[in-house]
Amino acid sequence: MSAREVGLFPERGEQGAGDAVSRDTKLPPLDAHGHFDPQRASEELLASGCVLAGTLSPEEWDVASSRRDPFVAWGIGCHPRLPRAQAAFDPRRFRAFAEETAVISEIGLDAGSRVPIDVQLGTFREILEFVAETPRLVSIHSYAATGLVLDEFERRPIRVPILHWWTGSAAETRRAVELGCLFSVHSQVARRSVHHTAIPKDRLLVESDHGVNDPPAAIPCRIEWVEHLVSQHLKCQRSDVRALAWANLRRIVDEVGVRNLLPDGICRVLEWEE
Ligand SMILES: [Zn+2]
Repeated sequence: MSAREVGLFPERGEQGAGDAVSRDTKLPPLDAHGHFDPQRASEELLASGCVLAGTLSPEEWDVASSRRDPFVAWGIGCHPRLPRAQAAFDPRRFRAFAEETAVISEIGLDAGSRVPIDVQLGTFREILEFVAETPRLVSIHSYAATGLVLDEFERRPIRVPILHWWTGSAAETRRAVELGCLFSVHSQVARRSVHHTAIPKDRLLVESDHGVNDPPAAIPCRIEWVEHLVSQHLKCQRSDVRALAWANLRRIVDEVGVRNLLPDGICRVLEWEE
């Protein structure tokens, strides 16, 4: 299957521009953690590449869960920094939405949040309990709470937690690897080699953490920048980082067993690689 048949960025292949474009034209950008306004028009999202998108609050779930975007997997989440979202969290309602989606994003703990840590822990534990029974791709926030988050995985293991914007030490990274974690690396983290040199290649994904109000069309550039930074550390081509991210996603999608819940476009890329 060609890039044109997959339906992504055929214009780049036609132009043939750039150094490592030949492989990039086969694989679209893959963003393991970004955000969109769920009210945004579908046409706008076609410019973003493939994205595992996070929602921040129960208010967003209704809108996001009814969308059908071919290259955006809408996750449901409850951001630990948002008092209103945490207060509105209802485990039964969360479970009902989470049954129907491949992705849970973003959830977690944040030691800098105004939300009391016991409230954050209550929400996080409810969600981990669900995911332990019903595996999903889970993107986890751990700002200033890396050790606490890992403690929760020890308490209630889940299949493949994805730590987003990870800033743990090398020792914490090793502990996270033992707990089965993957790491979606943001450009701010990729600049600091100390944080990701301890990340094994087969645990690596890349992310934009693109803001809700930022233009979707900017995501491919942001992903390319992270890929470039990671490629410098791994001493490989940027296109190799992209291929690695897709291979890692395919492996965890099958491990978790959520392929049937992913959008058509993302499934076509996963199948195309096989
Ligand atoms: Zn985020």
